[in-house]
Amino acid sequence: LPNSADLKPYNFAVAGHEGTLCDPDGELFIKPCTQQEISFYETACKDHPRFAELMPVFLGTLSLNDVTDVESLNEQLPAVADHISQGMKEEAVRMAKENAVEAAVEAAGAAKAARDNVTWKPNMTKKIATNKSVVLENAAYGFQNPNILDAKLGRRLWADDAPLEKRRRFDEISKATTNGSHGFRVAGMRVYKGSENPAELDSHGYKVYDKDYGRLQVTPDNVVEEMRKFIFNSRAGVDEDLGKAIAGAFLDDLRRVEDVLASEESRMYSASLLFTFEGDGQALRAAIEQPTPTASPSRQETRPEKKELGLSASRVDSGIEVKVIEFSVGEDFSQIEMEDEDEDDEDDEISSMPRIYSLKLIDFAHAEWVPGQGPDENCLLGVRSLIKIFEELSK
Ligand code: ADP
Ligand code: MN
Repeated sequence: LPNSADLKPYNFAVAGHEGTLCDPDGELFIKPCTQQEISFYETACKDHPRFAELMPVFLGTLSLNDVTDVESLNEQLPAVADHISQGMKEEAVRMAKENAVEAAVEAAGAAKAARDNVTWKPNMTKKIATNKSVVLENAAYGFQNPNILDAKLGRRLWADDAPLEKRRRFDEISKATTNGSHGFRVAGMRVYKGSENPAELDSHGYKVYDKDYGRLQVTPDNVVEEMRKFIFNSRAGVDEDLGKAIAGAFLDDLRRVEDVLASEESRMYSASLLFTFEGDGQALRAAIEQPTPTASPSRQETRPEKKELGLSASRVDSGIEVKVIEFSVGEDFSQIEMEDEDEDDEDDEISSMPRIYSLKLIDFAHAEWVPGQGPDENCLLGVRSLIKIFEELSK
């Protein structure tokens, strides 16, 4: 893991709480979270391997033992304290305000204040009740210009332990949005070159759709047309053919999600499906046509399955195969290392291969296993609606 001082705000979140982070390379996504979410990741990895495959790769957790113990903090986080003493305090406070660095920067600020004998005023406004974060694979890593859509699943959005007021509020939202009609709503979205009007694009060239978009503008009647704006975009060179191919790739993955959810006994409230694909048409086409790196003869022995996983240049659904390759490389990486520590060029080659698309189930703050209670029909409703929509888009 990188030094905590090197973590930086994650700029590609399309929904949810503020305070998400990533490492300097951007391979990792770090999110302050509840113990329930950590437990759900852990148990999925241990006992529900097919379900775990739908989730971002879970790499572990970060935690702060005792944020009130200034002395131990100075020991634990010297880098963060240094960071701050190097004039970064302002930025740190801003991040702390946004619930970042699981209170670490905030606490380091307190440490610094204590050292300098000045009064420290806590700045955390929306702090969630935990000092832990999950460390996940960043689903947007490896894309040149990722288009991202967060589809929040469920007609019912609250868990059994929610207070009455929250139930009412969420039921109102559900009734007023496609959560009610379709079992999902667009919680947020970003589309590369998603507008002709430069004033509607952010500094990176994206049209960003905030949470109000899915609440106020997407309706049961226009939901297919609105989703079309995510996939098809001639301004960025994502033409009919490319768009249909991507929609078809998502469709295949959605069917797999349906299949897994229907075979598991889980409950998730306000979880999401995170759709990501290469939003630059030229880069997308190049990624699809990229040939699979060829294994050296000695390497093929350790990875016989790879020969069958060739990326065919004309089929976008080979994106699924790209993912399989990535998984299998991860698994036998140590094996290769043991054989010859210096020869990991090929793995570099594969992990740096341009990405095509990704579909991941995320946000398990209110997720649990419910043995004996059957599949999660509340989430399946949303998944099945998305399947119908992507059938439409891939036609
Ligand atoms: P919250 O509880 O705040 O809603 P989420 O898990 O839904 O947290 O994450 C918030 C946002 O962060 C998502 O809408 C998505 O844009 C982004 N995000 C979540 N997980 C990942 C991930 N593994 N890789 C990349 N982005 C992610
Ligand atoms: Mn969320």
